[in-house]
Amino acid sequence: MSSAGSPGEFELIARHFARAAGNSRVDLGIGDDCALIDAGPERQWAVTTDMLVENVHFLADVAPAALGHKALAVNLSDLAACGAQPRACLLALALPRADDAWLADFANGLLALAEQFGCSLAGGDTTRSTAGVTISITALGEVPRGAALLRSGARVGDDIWVSGHLGDGALGLAVRRDRIELSPAARLAAVERLERPTPRVELGVALRGIAHSAIDVSDGLAGDLGHVLKSSVVGATIEWGALPVSAALASLPLEFQQRCVLAGGDDYELVFTADAASRDAVRAVGRDVHLPLTRIGIVRAGGGLTLAAPQGPMDIQPRAFDHFRP
Ligand code: ADP
Ligand code: MG
Repeated sequence: MSSAGSPGEFELIARHFARAAGNSRVDLGIGDDCALIDAGPERQWAVTTDMLVENVHFLADVAPAALGHKALAVNLSDLAACGAQPRACLLALALPRADDAWLADFANGLLALAEQFGCSLAGGDTTRSTAGVTISITALGEVPRGAALLRSGARVGDDIWVSGHLGDGALGLAVRRDRIELSPAARLAAVERLERPTPRVELGVALRGIAHSAIDVSDGLAGDLGHVLKSSVVGATIEWGALPVSAALASLPLEFQQRCVLAGGDDYELVFTADAASRDAVRAVGRDVHLPLTRIGIVRAGGGLTLAAPQGPMDIQPRAFDHFRP
């Protein structure tokens, strides 16, 4: 509980909703990227829902096709974090007005990504909003029973790996807000990373049986890796010098880079842990799915997250972006 008296996002969930878990068909309830629902002896359904609110999660002038893409991408990213294969999704939309051209573009963006990952739009709800646009998608994926990647599986001695580059989502936001000067090509690339993220679905599926734990980086590495450490009751040390950042981000001041990587958000890469004996297997997965996979640190006993940084070792507050905290 926060000493200031106003509870944060994760305290609110724990206080009001956590008791809903534990239904007999719910194999895994609140607390991971997806819930896991019993689907018979062979399989489980992985289910996740994420909401995008105008002026909270996206700027009002974002291209509707990009918004449709992103609304589904953030949900597919949670399926990826569990190693689930996307199957279907539901779309709930609250709109201030019925704008046919806007909806056509939005649907094109969403359905193109849905098709790419075999995730059929199976239903939803549409209503008028008296405020801005709100989009809520629920996505359903399939996983062989017991094979889902969980936040709680990290073991002492595991390597910590990350896919792609970190910090570009926050860099894209800084660019969109005109807070940063970059070349036109680098601007475009950063905004693309913010507005049209690629969910790492193939990677999540390929890591079944190899990774001990996983999460997608939606709220910054410190907080999201922090969720894994807390769920797994372990600590970690990560190396700043090993963290993969794009050339554009690497050209900016170190403290800005660190903010973008550790406390930024919207990266939608996977962070996962695996046995040191699995390094070759992990590298083979990276080659198969055409993604750079980088070893960034190690899981250790005890709690906490230490960053070996150029400034010296830093104890990082493993706190994710929180909607109700400054
Ligand atoms: P993610 O960033 O992966 O989408 P969150 O950090 O938003 O996950 O949520 C953490 C956990 O809390 C998840 O298991 C999620 O399903 C659960 N959760 C969030 N909000 C609610 C709610 N209103 N009721 C029940 N569970 C919730
Ligand atoms: Mg997630």
